[in-house]
Amino acid sequence: MIGITSYGTYIPRLRLDRMAIFQSMGWFAPAIMMVAQGERSMCNWDEDSITMAVTAARDCLIGQDKSTVDAIYLASTTLPYADRQNAGIVATALNLRDDIVSTDFTASQRVGTTALVTAFDALKGGDRNNILVAAADCRETKAAYFYEMWFGDGAASIMVGDKDVIAEYKGSHSLSYDFADHYRGRLKKYDYVWEERWARDEGYSKIIPEAIQGLLNNTNTTIDQVDHLVYPCFFKAEHKKIAKKLGAKPEQVMDNLHEMCGETGCAHALVMLTAALEKAKPGEKIVVAGFGQGCNALLFEVTDHITKLAARSGFEGAVNNKKSIDNYPKFLTFKDNIQTEMGIRAEAPTQIAVTTLWRKRKMLLGLVGGKCRECDTPQFPKMDICVNPNCNAHHSQDDYEFSNVPAKINSYTGDLLAVSVDPPHKYGMIQFEGGGRFMADFTDCDLEELKVGLPVQLMFRRRLEDKERGFSSYFWKAMPVPGAAEMMNRVRFDNQVAIITGAGGGLGRVYALELAKRGAKVVVNDLGGSRDGSGGGSTRAADLVVEEIKSSGGEAVANYDNVATVEGGENIVKSAVDAFGRVDIVVNNAGILRDKSFTKMEPENWKAVLDVHLNGAYHVSRPAYTLMKDQGYGRIIMTTSAAGLYGNFGQTNYSAAKLALVGLMNTLTIEGKKYNINVNTVAPLAASRLTEDIMPPEIFAKMKPEYVSPIVLYLCSDKCQESGSIYNAGMGYYNRAAFYTGPGVAINKGKEPPTPEDIKANWDAINSMEDARPIPDANAAIIALISPPDPKAKKAKSQAAKPEQESASVTPQEIFELMPNQFKKDASAGVDVVFQYSISGGNGGDWNVTIKDQTCDIQVGKVDKATCTIKMSDTDFVDMVTGKLNPMQAFSSGKLQISGDVMKSQLIEKLFSMK
Ligand code: NAD
Repeated sequence: MIGITSYGTYIPRLRLDRMAIFQSMGWFAPAIMMVAQGERSMCNWDEDSITMAVTAARDCLIGQDKSTVDAIYLASTTLPYADRQNAGIVATALNLRDDIVSTDFTASQRVGTTALVTAFDALKGGDRNNILVAAADCRETKAAYFYEMWFGDGAASIMVGDKDVIAEYKGSHSLSYDFADHYRGRLKKYDYVWEERWARDEGYSKIIPEAIQGLLNNTNTTIDQVDHLVYPCFFKAEHKKIAKKLGAKPEQVMDNLHEMCGETGCAHALVMLTAALEKAKPGEKIVVAGFGQGCNALLFEVTDHITKLAARSGFEGAVNNKKSIDNYPKFLTFKDNIQTEMGIRAEAPTQIAVTTLWRKRKMLLGLVGGKCRECDTPQFPKMDICVNPNCNAHHSQDDYEFSNVPAKINSYTGDLLAVSVDPPHKYGMIQFEGGGRFMADFTDCDLEELKVGLPVQLMFRRRLEDKERGFSSYFWKAMPVPGAAEMMNRVRFDNQVAIITGAGGGLGRVYALELAKRGAKVVVNDLGGSRDGSGGGSTRAADLVVEEIKSSGGEAVANYDNVATVEGGENIVKSAVDAFGRVDIVVNNAGILRDKSFTKMEPENWKAVLDVHLNGAYHVSRPAYTLMKDQGYGRIIMTTSAAGLYGNFGQTNYSAAKLALVGLMNTLTIEGKKYNINVNTVAPLAASRLTEDIMPPEIFAKMKPEYVSPIVLYLCSDKCQESGSIYNAGMGYYNRAAFYTGPGVAINKGKEPPTPEDIKANWDAINSMEDARPIPDANAAIIALISPPDPKAKKAKSQAAKPEQESASVTPQEIFELMPNQFKKDASAGVDVVFQYSISGGNGGDWNVTIKDQTCDIQVGKVDKATCTIKMSDTDFVDMVTGKLNPMQAFSSGKLQISGDVMKSQLIEKLFSMK
């Protein structure tokens, strides 16, 4: 049996919203609106038919033994070389054997299927057993043309052979007519297209049915036996009419993919065939036809082997890996359809020495490096001496292909000064799994997507184009693995161990379940007591939660210790270490209630509540903190309550304990900072036995603990750098609560103790919370008392500022006070800069902002050495920060002046979330 043994698809990631073409050019060509639905695929600036064919062929070769390939046929009407075999470049990039037949098929939209028919003819001849067919096209059109809407870029690859056939070849029928509905003369960039009506009536709707009918007759098949009818035709009505003419029902006909990617030239019949193969079941029949100066039609019957084919991107993967854009000028630029000024640097010589290319072809086109026979160390490029310092063997390297080896980003940069069609030019060091690294360009990504550690895959792309000599040179670039960034951004707890106290019910149970679902190994602690802490000793509550976690595939152990004792806390941590070897997360959640008004609050009730909430958190957190300190990582959550933060009648014991936890957090935050131990506090509101008699039933029903667990999980994760903060959370609403300190007043300038009457006289100023601010620690609070603000200076400033204040809702000073809250710690890794702000006007002044070691320090005044200095008027500054004035416009109009390292000033937008 001969037939298809594998397939692969490639659609460029970029998709242009067709509406964007209409929006830019509708004034000129209003009729293009009729086909402006969906998106068309478009090559990135570094892609062409060769690179697309390589990518589709790599997809096709997944799970195949490429040493068995003994011919490669490349079909395209947009080949970069008219005389240098394009298929040879593809074969070298794929590292196929040297002793194979390779050839190009070109000059008709039908050549994708012609290459396929020819491959089967060769198989039948018996000299070849496995032939790789690849078809790719990226046709150019003039702007604002119907064909610009209809066309798309893409590629497909089909392997044909006589072993492990997934779709048996049943026969073909070809017609050859010199029907010139369009043509592209030699050296012409664009097709010349004859009248559309003629192409439809005399071409598509006659020739395609004739070829398919001929095939059905040759193979004794009737149209109703065909399950998937595949034939490209971008005229929507004509596409339907052809099926009708053949007697096929609409459900038999494959969609022409207009909305998803557009028609991908001579590759389209094969792209649609891969889409059909992807959904076909064993026993189903597929007819594929390719039109163009005649027509080829082929019949296949799908075999059982299709279910065994290795996983691949295929059509689904290719079509779903997309970035939609509505930037029509970008499309024109990438297609080289408008001239952009590339600067003098772009004039550097681009001539490629073909001698070197020949000698290093395996390295440059095939990304072949070396692997040491002595120590197994891979390296790129291959050298005479092994790179491993413990080995350094000579002439010990075997060829080692890097193109399919998974890699990760080690470092990256976006270079605005380097020549790039898609600035900034993005490049960096990539590290291969198992060893080997090199500086790679990044493609198919935006700078914001790049991250250290992000998985990348290697893509064969055009590196330079020597337009003067018509020479494209290729190399491999790194592209983020589709979906990898989302995976990296996911809050996960794989290999982490979490202790949740009081996790036998209520909120703790949900925290435990959710943490386990995201990979954490969980210690479910609960002593199984009643609401007021009496009883206890029941193992059931914790056991049930452990069972629940295990039945969903998670890992957990139960612990029944009492958090209120020192030994209990130690045992809980020991349970974690015994079962899982470490502790990364502690959620201090166990709680009881013994509500009484103050006079009835006997010492035993006071003590019981403080023992569980406050002492319990101390007993568990302390031994866990010791482990976290040693491992340099930890997350601790305290559970406070609105009663503690704001007070509640009848809960003096509970309020005292709950606010004491905030004090514990404040200091533990300071102590844990250098060990990467973050401590935060949550004040939940959720339905549980503690709240069932407090909340009205209709509100109680909406208070699912699942609304609280997401913020607890985030605060517990390595994605969160927050420490020392308090959050209210419940019913889908989340906010931060904080201690703010008023500016106060210095009485008698601090020189003499004031009298109680002085205090009375200054009461409003002492009490005022205007300009209140958070104070980072006790030392800062003392400094605030020693050097209070000068009220006269403030008054003078506010009077001088009056006219501007009327127009501006906030002042620069307020903006700088708010800035620490807007600081994005995550974005500041590795940044070491000092921004000097010099703001003129009545509300102006000098401020300096130092970003170092992922902290942000803002001071009034000037520094000696700033990375850059930003000069603006107070009103413009406020407008810019509040989003009313575009920074680029401000800069180009002279409202914003930057001196020093201008490039570094661009970091401001990244480092602060203003507005
Ligand atoms: P809950 O009673 O359902 O859960 C508390 C759990 O802690 C119980 O399973 C209990 O057996 C366990 N526990 C009590 N004492 C313990 C001890 N000494 N050792 C080990 N386990 C013990 O209550 P919940 O509403 O889920 O409360 C969880 C936490 O959230 C408590 O700290 C509570 O004060 C706090 N809180 C809850 C709300 C709310 O709206 N539910 C509001 C504010 C604060």
